[in-house]
Amino acid sequence: MPDWVTHIAVAYILCTVIGFKYRQFNTSNTVLAMMGAVLPDVVKLGLIGEFLGYEVWNQIWAVHLPVGTLIIAGMVSLFFQDKRTAFLFFVLGAATHYTLDLLTFNVSGGIALLYPIYWGEWQLDLFTTENFYVPIVVLAVAVLTYLISRRRVKKSSKEAAAD
Ligand SMILES: [Zn+2]
Repeated sequence: MPDWVTHIAVAYILCTVIGFKYRQFNTSNTVLAMMGAVLPDVVKLGLIGEFLGYEVWNQIWAVHLPVGTLIIAGMVSLFFQDKRTAFLFFVLGAATHYTLDLLTFNVSGGIALLYPIYWGEWQLDLFTTENFYVPIVVLAVAVLTYLISRRRVKKSSKEAAAD
């Protein structure tokens, strides 16, 4: 499980880069994907419950499974005017979350991607959560992506003003 900043940054990078080509990947939809990228880790609210003396893991563990995240994304997207777009960008963000989690060594044994059809868990164990190079590299790429996107916005607004 990489940290939230890494999850958010990966969703930002992906949507911003795709947004260079496709208008649907605008700022507001990118924010939805960034929210979707941390949606599975809502399960960490269990830590607060545990701190307060309540055992809630059995009730909320499914949130950190694709099926649970899809249900939560569907419920949250009901609050948006364009429900379909909100749902799809939440799911895109969640997909980046699970991709990153799959790459990481997971103390719980991996992620049951196909639960409840199949209980097997997967992980690629390419790096651990203690590996600080991953967030540093991801944040550097995110900053670079931001700078490139700002440059593109300035360039296109100058061209629009010249017309
Ligand atoms: Zn996770």
